[in-house]
Amino acid sequence: MKVFNTVKEVREAVAAAKARGKSVGFVPTMGALHEGHMTLVRTSRAMCDFTVVSVFVNPTQFGPTEDFDKYPRTLDADAEKCEKEGVDVIFAPAPSEMYPEGYDGWVTVGGVTEVLEGEARPTHFRGVTTVCTKLFNITGADKAFFGRKDYQQLCVIKKTVRDLNMSVEIVPVDIVRDVDGLALSSRNKYLSGDERKAALCLSRSLNIAKDMYKEGADLAAIKEAVTKEIESEPLMKIDYVALVDGDTLREVTAESEGVVLLLAAYAGSTRLIDNTLL
Ligand code: AMP
Repeated sequence: MKVFNTVKEVREAVAAAKARGKSVGFVPTMGALHEGHMTLVRTSRAMCDFTVVSVFVNPTQFGPTEDFDKYPRTLDADAEKCEKEGVDVIFAPAPSEMYPEGYDGWVTVGGVTEVLEGEARPTHFRGVTTVCTKLFNITGADKAFFGRKDYQQLCVIKKTVRDLNMSVEIVPVDIVRDVDGLALSSRNKYLSGDERKAALCLSRSLNIAKDMYKEGADLAAIKEAVTKEIESEPLMKIDYVALVDGDTLREVTAESEGVVLLLAAYAGSTRLIDNTLL
């Protein structure tokens, strides 16, 4: 496995792999790798001949009051995990490699970026669509792997690829949870013991919603039950509880093919998200 810091090195390694007829899988991450990320890596390894993982805490997707400076950076441990899983290349650029002096290129996509996380974090998705476009161009990937954990991000990336005729295929991967149900996240490192325990109300409330939906409850009743479950934990503060169309993330209509329940809530000062398709 090679760890590269420059665009040029990655391009050369990928070009050599492609020249040998290999398909290229790409897993974008911000590092602090856990089993959620490693499941994306294993899926890429199973579907592609050559796997590139990026480890880049992307400054342009953080708001001015968010946790960019304190976000965990653990490149040595990340590289060890990737090596064990048979990753071919890690791309770990400095911010100046991705955004050099005078940088001024942005990819913006409307619609699905404007609701929920987009409302709570107004510049977030512009940073995500920009960095992913750059990384798709740098890696020349055939397939890119994204977790359903960040459900709206997955919708945004699918739409970016569709709207801009990108040739990369986006492959969704299911949420990986801890044994107690908490969705794995690099930000779980910020939680105290009590906050972590309180945060279990999120996965609990998703299960309540799934059961109610199966029994035919209406969406308003499900939303009320989910809200009540989260509010039963004094350490939790809801940002949003949304039951929306699984593709557009807008109001559910007769044409909706699926309903997704999306949650964002603070456990103490840590903002967590979780979701399930109903
Ligand atoms: P991040 O490093 O948080 O930017 O995440 C990188 C990728 O890993 C994204 O596609 C996430 O959706 C995915 N991911 C993060 N946590 C999980 C999880 N618990 N299960 C599945 N995928 C995840």
